[in-house]
Amino acid sequence: MIAPDIETGRRLLTELIEKAQVVLPFTGAGISTECGIPDFRSPGGLWAKYRPIPFDEFVAQQEARNESWRRRFAMEEAFAAAQPGRGHRALASLYRAGKAPGVVTQNIDNLHQHSGIGADDVVELHGNTTYASCLACGRRYEIAWVRDQFAAAGERAPDCGCGGFIKTATISFGQSMPATALRRAEAMARGCDLFLAIGSSLVVWPAAGFPLMAKQSGARLAILNREPTEFDAVADLVIHDDIGCVLEPFIGH
Ligand SMILES: [Zn+2]
Repeated sequence: MIAPDIETGRRLLTELIEKAQVVLPFTGAGISTECGIPDFRSPGGLWAKYRPIPFDEFVAQQEARNESWRRRFAMEEAFAAAQPGRGHRALASLYRAGKAPGVVTQNIDNLHQHSGIGADDVVELHGNTTYASCLACGRRYEIAWVRDQFAAAGERAPDCGCGGFIKTATISFGQSMPATALRRAEAMARGCDLFLAIGSSLVVWPAAGFPLMAKQSGARLAILNREPTEFDAVADLVIHDDIGCVLEPFIGH
């Protein structure tokens, strides 16, 4: 059912959480908008303004790597300053209370880890943009280091000592999805008895698959999203409201 108002939505959500043994939060861009992180995929979002750089271009062209890094550095202030929002803090409370084993996220902003969820318990489907890694050897690089090298070389993206290309630790268009993260997300979706989809339109693959896996395994499905989603009709509870406002009462002390 679609909650007629936010109070009813919170009350029904509280009941679902209390009844559940294992809650799996699944988050998308909507949980981070109040933190100043732009929603890349929304109309008017960054990807509507700039054509995304596909992975094959990144590896084929120095200029594509330079442009990719130029865009990332332009975002650095927003990413570096972002603090967990009310939604992140509420989910961290569920995690600390032992209700949620972790979180599966489409976000790349590191805010779940920042809110206190153990890094090993955050399953990132699209990677993480707050650091970089070598595509060949996997060595980790910090954004500040890449920026220094980039500036010192006259706006040229640096390479790893092994000769590999250094890229933010995100999954680009055309780059294969992280197999381990996908497997873990699937196991968690099948193992929960309440799947809590938050701030995701649930359209982009593989996001669309997980609510169904959870439902097939007998879980309840609750959806918190400003806009309608593909799964509203099959959900046990749908709340179309501001995510921070809905989840604020769930922040523990
Ligand atoms: Zn390397």
